[in-house]
Amino acid sequence: MAEFFIGGEWVGSRSGRTREIRCPADGSLVAEVAEGGREDTEAAIAAARRAFDSGEWPSTPAGQRGDLLLRVAGLLERDKATFARAESLDTGKRLVESEYDLDDIAACFRYFGKLAGQDAGRVVDTGNPDAFSRIVHEPVGVCGLITPWNYPLLQTAWKVAPALAAGNTFVLKPSELTPHTSILLMRALTEAGVPAGVANLVLGAGPEAGAPLSEHPDVDLVSFTGGLATGRVIAAAAAATVKKVALELGGKNPNVVFADADFETAVDYALTAIFLHSGQVCSAGARLIVQKELHGEFVGEVVRRAELIRLGGPFDPDAETGPLISAGHREKVERYVAAALEEGAILRTGGKRPDDPALADGFYYLPTVLDGVKRGGTAVTEESFGPVLTVETFTDEDEAVEIANDTHYGLAGAVFTSDASRAQRVANRLRHGTVWINDFHPYLPQAEWGGFKQSGFGRELGPTGLAEYQEAKHIYQNLRPGPQYWFPGAAK
Ligand code: NAD
Repeated sequence: MAEFFIGGEWVGSRSGRTREIRCPADGSLVAEVAEGGREDTEAAIAAARRAFDSGEWPSTPAGQRGDLLLRVAGLLERDKATFARAESLDTGKRLVESEYDLDDIAACFRYFGKLAGQDAGRVVDTGNPDAFSRIVHEPVGVCGLITPWNYPLLQTAWKVAPALAAGNTFVLKPSELTPHTSILLMRALTEAGVPAGVANLVLGAGPEAGAPLSEHPDVDLVSFTGGLATGRVIAAAAAATVKKVALELGGKNPNVVFADADFETAVDYALTAIFLHSGQVCSAGARLIVQKELHGEFVGEVVRRAELIRLGGPFDPDAETGPLISAGHREKVERYVAAALEEGAILRTGGKRPDDPALADGFYYLPTVLDGVKRGGTAVTEESFGPVLTVETFTDEDEAVEIANDTHYGLAGAVFTSDASRAQRVANRLRHGTVWINDFHPYLPQAEWGGFKQSGFGRELGPTGLAEYQEAKHIYQNLRPGPQYWFPGAAK
């Protein structure tokens, strides 16, 4: 087993340990892969360090690096079926969703490929004819990239593409549950011409294979996407060597629906917001915040339609959403629902595993709606990361905003209304990194993505996504060098 990619070579785990990867839809064995530990990651860091300090990649003209990323985009499109199948087997998500993801992943490589050659820095006016001053952007160095299991290759692309575009080298540690598309990506990067040592991959559990990426002095930047608790551990570990840190963490995202919203549209998006990928989306609209007069009719329709959602595996053409990632994660969702019910929430639908024997081997959980949740309770403050919608009500605009912002997270949110002015007012006041109006979930590679408050810091995507992986350097040149004689007496 040689699934690690270190210094341009495929190698196995130094300990010889392996891990079974099982499809969450039916528990079937997908593959056994090498399981890494600290020493594997340290070897990968050493390879990335060498490639940065003495390789040609950091000084390769940015336009050429961009061309390479465009080639990667082409390879992803060529091999889309292979990538999508691997992603679905690891995650259990519907094949069609993995195919959409692959389109987004290729678009991400294409976006950063085009952005790479555009930055010529800027000249700063010194006001002095005998001085010249400019700002240039340089790569940060060795990047540790740590990604989650819900959108394995998409989250990886959001880091790998800008890191490479900016001229960095990296070590990638994907989620231990979903390694396969990272392996395929390393092959595509190699085929596209990424030099040995620039792109490195290790697999394994976070505290062993991942931790050195936030601790090791030879790593300059750690970019992490995952849960809040892990983000705190990583930020604290990175502080010891004052690494640059980018964190994309969880969310508890409000979906505010006013009574004047188009009813069918708002119901439809309320369902997509939370039940897409069984709620395992960082920006999932897990909190429905609906105007009081609409509550009964709206929630009734959401419940009716939630009960019609068909669960199934990645290759079931009738499936509308899939399983949770693991038995452990489903238990976490079950604990979350139990706690919400104990706090007084009213179970409107779901709240259990499906009865269908055909789904018994997978980690399925029914689309769930919890009404009447308590303001400030765990049901509306903690992320379940499952197919669980909570319902709160408001009377007016101020109260809607207040409730929607009453969370320590700040990743994303939405407002549904037919009043165009109100839509903008509410969007302006929501303290969330992305706000959708009469829509939910769309994102663009050219628009920044990132969280307010404890949803993280740093931005992925957009022009400043590339900037995360660069150091801005001010270069000032005295064009008439010579003695200054600040202290003429001392110069004599
Ligand atoms: P997680 O925090 O458990 O794991 C994420 C990654 O961190 C995995 O690769 C894991 O192995 C690694 N890891 C764990 N402990 C580590 C440690 N001590 N040192 C280094 N690495 C470590 O998260 P998850 O369960 O894989 O993903 C779900 C979470 O990700 C949710 O909270 C979700 O909201 C969040 N997420 C956020 C975004 C975003 O853009 N903000 C996108 C996707 C997912």
